[in-house]
Amino acid sequence: MTVLLGKISKQAWMVAPETHKVMESLMRNGGDARFVGGCVRDALVNRKVIDIDIATPLKPEEVIARLQTDKIAVVPTGLKHGTVTAVCDGRPFEITTLRRDAATYGRHADVIFTDDWRVDAARRDFTFNALYATLDGDVHDFFGGIEDLRIGRVAFIGDAEERIREDVLRILRFFRFYAHLGRGDADAAALAACEKLSDLIPRLSAERIRTEVLKLMESPRAADVWQLMMEHRIVTRFLPEATNTQRLSRLIALEEKYQSHGFIMRRLAAVLDVTVQGIIDISDDLRLSREQTQQLLALFEPSFEVTLRMDEKATRHAVYKLGNDVVRSLLLLRAAESGAEENLREIYGWATAFRVPRFPLVGNDVLAMGIAPGPEVGRVLADVEDWWAAQDFAPGRTKCLERLKALCLRKV
Ligand code: ATP
Ligand code: MG
Repeated sequence: MTVLLGKISKQAWMVAPETHKVMESLMRNGGDARFVGGCVRDALVNRKVIDIDIATPLKPEEVIARLQTDKIAVVPTGLKHGTVTAVCDGRPFEITTLRRDAATYGRHADVIFTDDWRVDAARRDFTFNALYATLDGDVHDFFGGIEDLRIGRVAFIGDAEERIREDVLRILRFFRFYAHLGRGDADAAALAACEKLSDLIPRLSAERIRTEVLKLMESPRAADVWQLMMEHRIVTRFLPEATNTQRLSRLIALEEKYQSHGFIMRRLAAVLDVTVQGIIDISDDLRLSREQTQQLLALFEPSFEVTLRMDEKATRHAVYKLGNDVVRSLLLLRAAESGAEENLREIYGWATAFRVPRFPLVGNDVLAMGIAPGPEVGRVLADVEDWWAAQDFAPGRTKCLERLKALCLRKV
């Protein structure tokens, strides 16, 4: 029996032509399809919708056939679980056939397809993740998810312990959703179940853990929720070095104050109490991308010392060495560490305003001085550039050429 409780006003992603194309392909000739999961949940609370999940009673082969007929690209991303990804006008749509999960030991569920929406709803994790919306925006709610969303209650569908035993990732998802959507105290029974089964967390793949951790870290409440996870012996199971919630909490407050958002590795850096080697180990453990690892290392072992006592010239030099973003991140981290802002406002302003000018010389200038092509050209050029930077980037091309000339005379 379907309970129809809510309505989402038509959003840009719902009325987008590519969304219509995909939905219409699935709904034609007696087919059915509804939006599900994050997009419905987030639309109801006016959060930005990023990816679109669709549920349908059509079997995967039928989904593929229909999309192909309509010339919509389709990638079999998770056929075993009944999931295919349609890509329409560059936008991905994850389409999953309604199913029940027969035996879920860890992540591999034996799936049985069904055409019963409620059965599909029941295999999902939390009440507000089991909301389905039609193309018109009518929301079908089987387990009181809309009300839970309204009051900020993260509630497992069914018994928490049982649901966690089926898939331990739900522990991390519980805290992630509590960080983003929760209000008031977290559900005590759910917390107890998470703590009781937390020793199963190491069985999860690094990728699944990383995804949840980074999503949790995006929340403005990340520090408080991380603290709660520590108190319930969750963090120690997968990231025991991540204990500095005070620094994380201060960092998040400073990010708000300085309107600096979107640097998720900085938040991870704030909560980690480790050495550089520790960073490398954690990057391996969590399978961070090369870029993410570089970002973390740049914060842990900067090639130029950044402090809250730098004058303007030193700040400019730091920006030259590290870039505006890294310097600003380090400043926020230093202030978060000490709890004292000192001259943060002023230095932060310098680090924001300074644009490193282009060094006025190029390799050809060195060759023109009679230096033979080879590594020496780069070395000489770097010498002059160091001098130029030490002069606070003031010397123009003429002055730099003079300096180059003097240097070359000594060498030739
Ligand atoms: P977001 O996309 O914002 O991270 P989401 O809720 O859409 O959040 P997805 O991983 O995209 O998360 O999953 C889509 C839906 O699939 C969820 O809303 C939920 O209904 C179901 N789901 C995902 N992971 C699980 C899980 N581990 N256990 C049970 N249901 C899950
Ligand atoms: Mg999603």
